[in-house]
Amino acid sequence: MRGAAIRRTSRDIRSDSMVDVLHAVLSAGETTRNEIARKTGLSAATVVTVAGELIDRGIIVETKTTAGQVGRPTAMLAINVERGRVVGLDVAETYVRGVMFDTALNPLVQIERAHDENLQDPDSIVEAIGAVLDDLLVQQGVGRDSVLGVGISLPGLIQEPGGVAVVVPNWEWRSVELEHLRERVGFPLVIDNPLKAMVAAELWLGRGRSASSMATVNLGTGVGAGIVLQGQVLRGATNSAGEWGHSLLVLDGRLCRCGRRGCVEAYIGVPGIQETLRELAPDHPLADVGRQRDFIMELAAAASDEGGDGAARETVNRTAYFLGSALADLVAIVNPEVITLTGWTTWALGDLLVPSAGRRMREQSPGHAGTSLDLEVSAVRGNPVASGIAMIALERSLVDAGLLTSRIPVAL
Ligand SMILES: [Zn+2]
Repeated sequence: MRGAAIRRTSRDIRSDSMVDVLHAVLSAGETTRNEIARKTGLSAATVVTVAGELIDRGIIVETKTTAGQVGRPTAMLAINVERGRVVGLDVAETYVRGVMFDTALNPLVQIERAHDENLQDPDSIVEAIGAVLDDLLVQQGVGRDSVLGVGISLPGLIQEPGGVAVVVPNWEWRSVELEHLRERVGFPLVIDNPLKAMVAAELWLGRGRSASSMATVNLGTGVGAGIVLQGQVLRGATNSAGEWGHSLLVLDGRLCRCGRRGCVEAYIGVPGIQETLRELAPDHPLADVGRQRDFIMELAAAASDEGGDGAARETVNRTAYFLGSALADLVAIVNPEVITLTGWTTWALGDLLVPSAGRRMREQSPGHAGTSLDLEVSAVRGNPVASGIAMIALERSLVDAGLLTSRIPVAL
């Protein structure tokens, strides 16, 4: 990992240039060497050298030549999507979602498999992961040799002195379980936690195209933030950075599922939003909707209707107020250029929350940190966790090929 105390070598600088060029090509789809130089700030000579090396290694290709403005033909560059496939697996406590991508991160096929809630032992979950991977290969009709790498997002993945571990309420995976996972997968494998995967997707496929310091906030049952500072995903000592959902919003406030009182999540996680509605209107028909997704969809519909559901609209207003206030604290610490919202609650409620949450966030942010700060619904759709972890797997394949120096914290 980069840092002031680490001496950077010429190999690291070459690696950084390569990341910048790849980022520019991946986000543009098709681009020219001149355009890459303009976007990255690299010199034209560096872009020519780096692009030449990436072409020689089959990572990017010249797709076609167009007539240049001054008469000389200009070659277009793109990611070589024929080079192989990469897989991202989003593993949660109740499901495994797998997506196979080409090397430009276009999704080709996806599969979801629910876990039986009563089968939470590691063997069953590792087998479910392996089965999804096998099905992806069969459905896409590709051999194992065309897979460049597999990324797996695991909930509660932390870094411990003895290595990595997965610690969520019903799981406690340490080296034995993770070794079993590695054997079952049988491909070069990276693992990370969902917040890091999600922000990697935003970095490569979303707002990271134009911002180098940003936060991506996930809104769902739980809430959290992936943070990028100067182009690097912030991890912290145990890979736990970004647990903003468990920062304090209200002193001695509502009980959070983590055991503490007053956490952000207890107000803007889905159970928290339902609690807000119950406080406003205990007899409201949505107060007792059991399934979280049904509750959020119905709340969004009721709050969008100009008709008369005042309690639904007020619930959304209060949620936006809580969200904007809590984001201002994140801004105070991270000072990002942009904050994006992602996750299934965002797809339903984001457009209703953003205007007033953004206003509140800017008003409450300290100094000038909020002046030109944007709050947006993320443009990365599909499954950002699967896309992001696949991108990390792709980076690892470039590290293994000797093209990049390692920025991958957790490779098995
Ligand atoms: Zn909490």
